[in-house]
Formats: sequence, C-alpha cells, structure tokens
Amino acid sequence: MIVMKFGGTSLGTAERFTHTAAIVKQELERKPVVVVSAVGGMTDLLLLAGEEALQKDLAPTQEEPQYTRTLKKIYQVHEKILTDLHLPIELFLIFYEELSEIYRGIYLLKELTARTKDLTASFGERISARILAACLCRIGINARAIDSWDCGFITSNEFGAARLLSDSPEKIKKIVSSLDFLPVTTGFIGKSREGNITTLGRGGSDLSASLIGAAVQAEVIEIWTDVSGIMTSDPRLVPNAKTLASMSFQEAAELSFFGAKILHPKTIEPAVKSKIPVLVKNSFKPEDPGTLILSENMKTQGLIAVTLKKEVVCVNLYSTGMLEAPGFLSRVFEIFKKHGISIDVVATSEVNISLTLDHPDGLEKAEAELSEFAEVHVEKDRAIICLVGEDLKRTPGIAGKVFKILGDANINIEMISQGASQINLTFVVKSSDGEKAVRALHRKFFEKVDFSEDYEFKESVF
Ligand code: ASP
Repeated sequence: MIVMKFGGTSLGTAERFTHTAAIVKQELERKPVVVVSAVGGMTDLLLLAGEEALQKDLAPTQEEPQYTRTLKKIYQVHEKILTDLHLPIELFLIFYEELSEIYRGIYLLKELTARTKDLTASFGERISARILAACLCRIGINARAIDSWDCGFITSNEFGAARLLSDSPEKIKKIVSSLDFLPVTTGFIGKSREGNITTLGRGGSDLSASLIGAAVQAEVIEIWTDVSGIMTSDPRLVPNAKTLASMSFQEAAELSFFGAKILHPKTIEPAVKSKIPVLVKNSFKPEDPGTLILSENMKTQGLIAVTLKKEVVCVNLYSTGMLEAPGFLSRVFEIFKKHGISIDVVATSEVNISLTLDHPDGLEKAEAELSEFAEVHVEKDRAIICLVGEDLKRTPGIAGKVFKILGDANINIEMISQGASQINLTFVVKSSDGEKAVRALHRKFFEKVDFSEDYEFKESVF
C-alpha cells in the first residue's frame, strides 16, 4: 500500500485533476490511498468568506454583503473545473447549499467561532475528494471519495490544531484495509469524538498523509507538489541549484526550519516514527525522480543544502551577571516568551548571549526588560545561512572551509551556531551579504568547481 497526497497545485484546474488521475492510475498495483488538499487557493477563500460575513451590515449603496461575492467566486471556481471536466455540477451543489447557510448564519449572528471556521474550511477538501474520485472513475478505476473520519481519522476537539487520537491509527488501518475500492480521502480535516469537524492547521494535508501512511504502514508516502523535490538551494537565488535524490529525515527537518518551505517538520514526524520513507514528487513532471526522505541507512554523502533566511533580527546581550549564575538563560528566555517572541538561533559565551528572532514584533518591550540586567544590542537586517548535511558531523574541517570561503568573499560572520544534531552549521551575516554568501558556498560545496582543492561533493547514491 502507498499513500499519494496531492496538494492544491495538483488540483488547481480541470487539466490538473485529469493529470493527477493519470498519475494515480500508474500506481494501481501498489494499492494507493489518495489524500487530497482543497483546490488551490480554496481554503483561503473559504476562510475569507467567513471573515467577511462578520463585517458590518450592508451600506445603503451596497447591493449584497461582501461575503456573497467570495461565495460566488468559490462557486465559479468549482463550476469551471466541473464544466471543463464534463462532470455534473451536483457534485458541488450538494455542499454549496449547506455552505451558503453557514455563511448566512455567521452574517446574521455576527459570530464566527473556531469551530465554525474549521467547518467552513473543511468543504475545500470534501469537494476536491469528490471531484478527483469522479475523474478516477471515468478512467475505469473503482475509486470513491471518503471523508477522513469515515476512514477512522478521529481527532481531538482542538479547532485549528486538532491531533489524531491515539486509538485512531488502529481504526484507520482496519477500515482502509477492508475497503473494496480505491479511497480518495480528505487531508487537513478530521472529526472529533464530540462530532465536530476539525482541522489540523493550515497546510495540514501533508500531515494527514503522513499520519494515514503511518497508520496503514504504507510502503512509501508520496507528497505530490509543484516542484521536483528538495533542492541544494533556492533556485531563484542559485541558478545551479539541483534536486537532491535523497536525504535523511533529520536533514529534511533542519531544512524546513531554515527556509526550504517544502515540508513542515511536523509533517514527517509520524513517518519518521514508523520509519516510512517520504517521497516528494512533482505532479507537473511525474517523470522526475523526486527526493526520497529516509529514516535510516543513510547512504547520502556530502552536504545537502545551503539555505538563506533574510530579514532576521539579531539580539546581543552582554552581562557579567551570567558568570556562574544559574537561571540566567532561563530568565532571558522567559522574557522573550512573555512577549510572544520566538527565537531561532542561539549562541552563548560566559558573558554574552546572541540570538536571532524571526521578526521584531514585541521586541521593544522585551528589550526594556532585558536592559534591567544586561547590555542589549539589537541588529536588524541580518540573514541566517544554514548548511545542512550528515557530513558535518563526519568530516573534519568543513567549518574551516566555510569560514575561508566567506573570508575570501569579504563577508563577515557575526554569529555561529551548531545544533546538538551536528548536521547543521548556522551562521548570521548582514542581510546585504546573504545572497553573496549562499552563492559562494553553493559554488564551492555543490558545484563541481575547484573540486580537488577543497571538498568533494558526492552525488547521493541510491
Ligand atoms: N487546504 C489546506 C490549506 O490550504 C490544507 C493543505 O493544503 O494542506 O491550508
């Protein structure tokens, strides 16, 4: 059994639905369980209509409430797809009526709860599953749409961040293996024991695929998207970036934290625990091999990627009060926590702490509190560069090479950090040096330039 998850870009138009159905058909022998997202952009529209329904009553010049226009758009997008596919509009209408009533209720009551938000958002996946199942039936496959909860996907009652209940995987396994049709199920959504529809959080359909894959002990979990896998760097920045054949779970997790937005680390956790490989594939180019993310037996050699995160704020704290003072760091972190500021990279010495933040919101207040016991310097316009690869822990001297490359390029490193996993080397430079630094590192480590002189990048072998 395999899990094939298709995201919004693979389900954006009638043509994409047809392609996606053809991709599934190729894999019939491997018994696919198909997991879908909503039609591209649909979840945003569904949530937007809810917010709009909350807005004030009609102005005298206005003919209809704003939310009805968004609802019309939701109608039109699905209508076009169904018309182009020559499928009956009823596939959508069965949901549309209910959806309109829910928005009308929000409009009249001027109340939009987290529960209602999840309910409205759920329609995207429920509709796209029906459309894809119809496309599959049309090409002779015995497929049927099945809502995730009917597959046993029962979650906690936490709207917007629901978790799969611990006894659900067993149920999923039992139900899915007993089905006598190819299931096309809904990602992103579930149902609680209380009977409410829930969502796992935005972008949650990858997580659904991973959870379902782990439950049915799939041979592989395929995440079909619009890129051909995970690359050595951002191709907009580094034209010579190339797709990686494989990487370890840990490398993938490090990469997703630092800029590569392909998979959220939370997504692959269930797969990691069950040791199920995850394959990232491109539905626009199904012939491309994609990137395989593996738990064990890492045979990849070399560094795998260099990433850049711009517009980072760097805070430097200096205090002699840190010397042999238990609790100093926790005091600092408490202050950031109190002001809702999340910290990315940390480096410390006996008298100094340097840390980076995603954004400066709330920083002024935190700064005032920190100033009570430390000298605080805030540097904006910084960039985090992160080199990732299992080889960082195996090969001596890489850090030295990195510093030489950046030194030769006249780039000053302001902060360095290496996590306990030892598979990332992270450093901070001025934002204006960020792109130059990434290109220089990529050239040296990932493009076969000065091959003999420095570091040998070996292609992943699988
Ligand atoms: N449709 C949902 C969203 O846009 C879930 C997903 O696409 O993964 O957030």
